[in-house]
Amino acid sequence: MSDVKFLAEETAKLDIKGFLDVEIDPTLDLFDEIERLKREKNAIVLAHYYQEPDIQDIADYIGDSLGLAQQAEKTDADIIVFAGVHFMAETAKILNPNKKVLLPDLNAGCSLSDSCPPPLFKAFKEKHPDHIVISYINCSAGIKALSDIICTSSNARQIVESLPLDQKIIFAPDKNLGGYINKVTGRNMLLWNGACMVHEIFSLEKITRLKERHPEAKLIAHPECEEAVLRIADFIGSTTQLLKFSETDEAQSFIVATETGILHQMQKNAPDKTFIAAPPDNACACNDCPHMKLNTLEKLYLCMKYELPEITMEEQLRVAAKRPIDKMLELSRQFGL
Ligand code: SF4
Repeated sequence: MSDVKFLAEETAKLDIKGFLDVEIDPTLDLFDEIERLKREKNAIVLAHYYQEPDIQDIADYIGDSLGLAQQAEKTDADIIVFAGVHFMAETAKILNPNKKVLLPDLNAGCSLSDSCPPPLFKAFKEKHPDHIVISYINCSAGIKALSDIICTSSNARQIVESLPLDQKIIFAPDKNLGGYINKVTGRNMLLWNGACMVHEIFSLEKITRLKERHPEAKLIAHPECEEAVLRIADFIGSTTQLLKFSETDEAQSFIVATETGILHQMQKNAPDKTFIAAPPDNACACNDCPHMKLNTLEKLYLCMKYELPEITMEEQLRVAAKRPIDKMLELSRQFGL
């Protein structure tokens, strides 16, 4: 079959499957192949901390949402391969309209982003015309286009504190992060009722029992967790802040209340310390993000080889969504983040 015909057929299948389902020669070393494709195509692999360890190890940059957006803004690669979820690849495309942005599996969505549909949010915003909108980066391009400033869990507090005290604010889409920021800043932001399925699932009861069994361990939690978990945490921070804290703090063991992918970097950075994943409130023993874990090394290789699936976006939407991201990046520079 000709390459053109093959690609046309696979592209048609992509619409249904969301990823390339092409047989791979089992003798190939995918790590070597991905490195070769990076060089040949001037491609960069950006990976979120919640990706599987193999993908983290092959990535050119691993980070949380703020770091990934900053890398996407400054890269001179021709192709950005985004090992993360859809809104992250979308953010890279918003910042790089002339570059090719690839996502190994288009099904890699986000429950938090899905909890805030743009038409409903637009109606909500119209009811509060005197409020400005700060949206957590975990949202669709449609929500970004309706926002004034984007934030991440690394800079949300500083961004909110940079606004005048009497400024009315809508915070979307994560009610847990918004509630936490309200608490630490003393603000009363209006919160959209969205949440992340991974961070809402932690069991307070099981964590409390775990703390009793490991009294020496510090509980460290992401602010997307529910208030009850945050209340008993020894440290609260973004993924990057949790990583830094676990490396530099004197404690030798930690109970980690966020997606389990981060444990790979924590263990690499501090091999002698002990990291225990906080248990979820279900029969399963792990709290993996099912969206993040849709990406695999095989899908990453295929997506680099065939340059599919690609993220595309209508220009008007892209321009509207870029404005609040630029604002966040500018503020982060001012804050030294
Ligand atoms: S961990 Fe939660 S917020 Fe992050 S991608 Fe998964 S569902 Fe979305």
